[in-house]
Amino acid sequence: MAANKKLLILPGDGIGPEVMGQVQLVIDWMDKRRAVTFDVETGLVGGAAIDAEGSPLADATMEKASNADAVLLGAVGGPKWDELPFEQKPERGLLRLRKEMELYANLRPALVFDALVEASTLKPEVVKGLDIMIVRELTGGIYFGEPRGIEDLPDGQRRGINTQVYTTNEIRRVAAVAFELARKRGKRVTSCEKANVMESGVLWRQEVQKLHDESFQDVALSHMYADNAAMQLVRNPKQFDVIVTDNLFGDILSDEAAMLTGSLGMLPSASLGDPDKHGRRQALYEPVHGSAPDIAGQDLANPIASLLSFAMALRYTFDLAEDADLIEQAVQRVLAGGLRTADIMSPGAAKVSTVTMGQAILRQLDQMAA
Ligand code: NAD
Repeated sequence: MAANKKLLILPGDGIGPEVMGQVQLVIDWMDKRRAVTFDVETGLVGGAAIDAEGSPLADATMEKASNADAVLLGAVGGPKWDELPFEQKPERGLLRLRKEMELYANLRPALVFDALVEASTLKPEVVKGLDIMIVRELTGGIYFGEPRGIEDLPDGQRRGINTQVYTTNEIRRVAAVAFELARKRGKRVTSCEKANVMESGVLWRQEVQKLHDESFQDVALSHMYADNAAMQLVRNPKQFDVIVTDNLFGDILSDEAAMLTGSLGMLPSASLGDPDKHGRRQALYEPVHGSAPDIAGQDLANPIASLLSFAMALRYTFDLAEDADLIEQAVQRVLAGGLRTADIMSPGAAKVSTVTMGQAILRQLDQMAA
């Protein structure tokens, strides 16, 4: 009998509670049918927390998040809270979680399910079977570097300044995440920077190479300029396994890779921090999409991005690759059977609700585990 695994679920706002409801059902299924049990707590974040507790993330919830093995988040935000001052907005809850858990590695897989090959704007042969992972540095680089600001110049012009800055440790810790991930996947890492024109890129390349030579020689490492990587992602994305890059280039490359797959409702993500003494990293798993106020409360949302985020938690926090595979295969089969939520609807498929999609995935899990 496996030990308990502590999960904190923060459904949030809009479609968050609807999609996380489906995740909860899959967790219940796993408790009953697999050799693993979860100790699940729930809490409030975002607008829901503002309404009930007066702030977008209560201190008690923050503490629970820090103590959980993994946090599963739905989405935050909505028109009801748009007028609040910046410091009190729902998004501050999410930013506080990322900051206090020190989640410096953002993982964005781009996975194309066979049944959705046509949803991509690229040719089917280019994206069929695509399965890549972008690891983006999330807490350093030009979005945080000092000096920054806009200043007035004596001649009446203005000057905008941001600073790209990385230290050895910041580079090594995110590269270590990428190498560890590659070990669980195709054992290949491509590190992207602009070492041809940026000193921070030269340092990035040197430190990634050094870490590789010291500790990860079983993983194949290559280096690529970030602009070339942007081209290669649309030319031949299947050449990549894991891409690791800084905050700015990662922001762009991860969105580009995401769109190779065609749909926001299908995209999971993870954000990881430092390992504890047992080697388990602080971890937050969430769909890439937002709270989708336009469809909230109507049983229309696609729960698959959230279910795949839970599968990532199984794979990367709990080392339960078989169970993660099971969920991903159940999704694959339900899609192959022709069921679609409205956002991924295609001619000839059957349009279903959030709950019906969740039920179909559970039925598929039942069949596969029988
Ligand atoms: P969004 O991702 O919420 O929605 C964009 C479009 O995609 C909408 O038309 C929506 O209906 C659709 N969509 C998104 N997820 C879907 C799903 N699972 N199934 C079906 N359709 C889906 O982005 P937005 O409209 O720009 O933002 C809405 C709110 O969400 C804002 O308050 C924004 O600040 C917030 N937001 C939160 C997060 C987060 O919590 N991480 C991320 C992005 C946006």
